[in-house]
Parts: sequence; C-alpha cells; structure tokens
Amino acid sequence: MNQRCASCRACRLCEHRHNVVFGVGDPSSRVMFVGEGPGEQEDLQGEPFVGKAGQLLDKMLYAVDLDRKTNVYITNIVKCRPPMNRDPQEDEQQQCISYLREQTRVIRPKIIVTLGRIAGMRLIKPDLRITREHGMWFEKKGVLMMPMLHPAALLRNPAQMEGAFRDFLILREKIKEVCPEVYQ
Ligand code: URA
Repeated sequence: MNQRCASCRACRLCEHRHNVVFGVGDPSSRVMFVGEGPGEQEDLQGEPFVGKAGQLLDKMLYAVDLDRKTNVYITNIVKCRPPMNRDPQEDEQQQCISYLREQTRVIRPKIIVTLGRIAGMRLIKPDLRITREHGMWFEKKGVLMMPMLHPAALLRNPAQMEGAFRDFLILREKIKEVCPEVYQ
C-alpha cells in the first residue's frame, strides 16, 4: 500500500509534491493521530508533523508519555502537500481517503485523535464545531474518536494552549482505560 501510495497520481496534489507523506510511528499502536495534510517541511522530509506545528505536537505528546516513534501512529487525511498550505479540497480528500481506510484496517486503532477542523469534520462529523467540541469523545464503529485543536492553530492563538493540554490529559486517561499496553 505504501508503494502504491508513493506513486499515486489520483489527484492534482501529485503534481508539485517532493514526497508522499504516508505516516510515521508504531503501526501496532492502538492510538492514531490524523492531521489534515503535509506542509512544506513534511513535503520535503516525507514525514508528518515535522515543522513548527509538529514540534509543538511532539512536546504535547511527550508530556503525556507518548512518542511518535514508539507508541503512536501519525498520519494525515491527504498524503501530498496542498499548494500554499491551503485546505485539501473535497475531491482530493475523497481520492486519498482510501489510503487512510487501509491504514486503519491494518492498525485497528481503538482511539483516533483528529487534529484540526478538516480532519475532525472528515472523520467525526461534518458539522463538528472544533472550538466547542475539542476534547469530547465520539464513538464510530467501535472506535473512540476525539477532535483536538490543530497545533498550528495553537501557535497562532496560544490562549487555547491550556484547553488543548487538558485534552491530552483526558486522552491519557482513556488510553490507560482502553489500551493500557500503549504505556507498557
Ligand atoms: N499539518 C498537518 O495537518 N499535517 C502535517 O503533517 C503537518 C502539518
């Protein structure tokens, strides 16, 4: 699947990419984070969340004993960078979502955390109000899902940082309850 994705030309996002950004982390972890799409650094390095927003994400993960390399899996709705970091368009998301479905089939997450409005609306519900509903749990097909604020939004609006950190604490408690092996 990774190789098929690496040569994918199903939408216009393939035209300017340097790298397909498939995912990073432990594919046997039951906790999956899903962002929106690669930015500039991710496109250059081929790994999700490695720019400024990614560094903040790493810090918040670290604060609750999570780590991108060892106990979570991180990916995005679209695997190629939208030009000028615009939102991925509906048809681009539609074309790419089959890769995420396959990743989900392989990983079989018990918990999915969506990062930002786009991922939350796509995976949780189209009318998600991210500023009001971040940190809440939703259940879909037996998978617990929590929308979180996007780390890039936190960098723009640090006043939201405290609420965002609270969401990570809620997440840690839920992980201990439903998939404690993540912390072993
Ligand atoms: N923003 C995202 O949503 N995903 C990335 O991988 C990087 C920034």
